[in-house]
Amino acid sequence: MAKDKKLVEAITSMDVDFAQWYTDVVKKAELVDYSSVKGCMVIKPAGYAIWENIQKELDKRFKETGVQNVYMPMFIPESLLQKEKDHVEGFAPEVAWVTHGGLEPLQERMCVRPTSETLFCDFYARDIQSYRDLPKLYNQWCSVVRWEKTTRPFLRSREFLWQEGHTAHATAEEAEERTELMLNLYADFCEEVLVMPVVRGRKTDKEKFAGAEATYTIEALMHDGKALQSGTSHNFGDGFAKAFGIQFSDKDNKLKYVHQTSWGMTTRLIGAIIMVHGDDNGLVLPPRIAPTQVVIVPIRQQAEGVLDKAYQLKDVLSGFSVKVDDSDKSPGWKFSESEMRGIPVRVEIGPKDLENNQAVLVRRDTHEKMTVSLDEIKEKVTELLDTIQRDMFERAKAHRDAHTYTASNLDEMKDLADNKPGFIRAMWCGCQECEDKLKEIAGVTSRCMPFNQEQVADTCVCCGKPATKMVYWGKAY
Ligand SMILES: [Zn+2]
Repeated sequence: MAKDKKLVEAITSMDVDFAQWYTDVVKKAELVDYSSVKGCMVIKPAGYAIWENIQKELDKRFKETGVQNVYMPMFIPESLLQKEKDHVEGFAPEVAWVTHGGLEPLQERMCVRPTSETLFCDFYARDIQSYRDLPKLYNQWCSVVRWEKTTRPFLRSREFLWQEGHTAHATAEEAEERTELMLNLYADFCEEVLVMPVVRGRKTDKEKFAGAEATYTIEALMHDGKALQSGTSHNFGDGFAKAFGIQFSDKDNKLKYVHQTSWGMTTRLIGAIIMVHGDDNGLVLPPRIAPTQVVIVPIRQQAEGVLDKAYQLKDVLSGFSVKVDDSDKSPGWKFSESEMRGIPVRVEIGPKDLENNQAVLVRRDTHEKMTVSLDEIKEKVTELLDTIQRDMFERAKAHRDAHTYTASNLDEMKDLADNKPGFIRAMWCGCQECEDKLKEIAGVTSRCMPFNQEQVADTCVCCGKPATKMVYWGKAY
């Protein structure tokens, strides 16, 4: 038993030190490892399998809306990056430069893509001629590089995996429609699959993407009350098209600029899953994203018939992703290991259970145990996985709602920011000075102006002038 306890004791309690808890879980659940490459991470099989499931589900949803996958070069010549002024200013401080090819200095240095708007624009300028070529609905799965100064596994690393969608349209309306469509697709994915409730809204001009006319975002609340931007969708209008000369001849034979969008989700989502659902025993994975949904742990596996029954059960449950832990570790150790890895359902089966034609099911999220007949185990596991998926969403939503506050003046805002980690809803006049001041005085940034607006006061929380928008504020990862 002493040995069994060690695995769990190795994690810091989340209430004692949330940052350390996060690092411990990431490490003990074997999601990532550090690397000799500073600021970069090694994604291990348990972590990569979660990413593969995210990819699979998102890719399917993208394609249902007509999106096709492509692949662009990973280098961007400096002259290309500089074509759109806001864009280059936004990204220049964090790009990595390639200056040599072999031993020869390059005539023009190239950056490793921090994002690929410029490459898609360069391509679209050549590929789009007529209204018949539109819309272009392309996406690429790749990694990008941003030279971050401080890094944390999944949340901020110099190289990370993501998808970036880039579309071109004949009209402004179509581009706006696509921007919203993808934001809602992201939100639905987070809520249905990752069971992570999100606030959908628009970024203020200060927080929007470099070069965008409008940035829409989904914001989720982590267990420690900090916000995490979980996906963004940008409407570029025709700004990039003008900078790159992307024109098409329309049905009326007039030459027009295209309207563009881009949208992305990253491996940060794995960090979000950990921080929304995890507990002091480790990771808690939503059934629909868990690489292993059910682990079967044979008790006294050397006893006659136990292992055979365990393998039989695996076949019975073949519609799910099931593992039999037939290693020579003790059952107690296997229990805490499967909990650490966040496997949603554990099936325990031993000689006593065989006699009674039963097995014990244990929920990872609540630790609740139930004895079920082997004759109906498939139905029971199906039901249980659905219940867990649903309950996890409800729990996360209740947590978020309980940590969403309202402030009507600066003192309240500061008091909440200092003492109550969570979202703070407050009215805003729309000027950036107030936004800057709130950051300086209360340490909060505007997370988004939610689509669901609600008048929580009449005046700006900062300057007291008439307010135009209700904003979600908070401290963020
Ligand atoms: Zn104001």
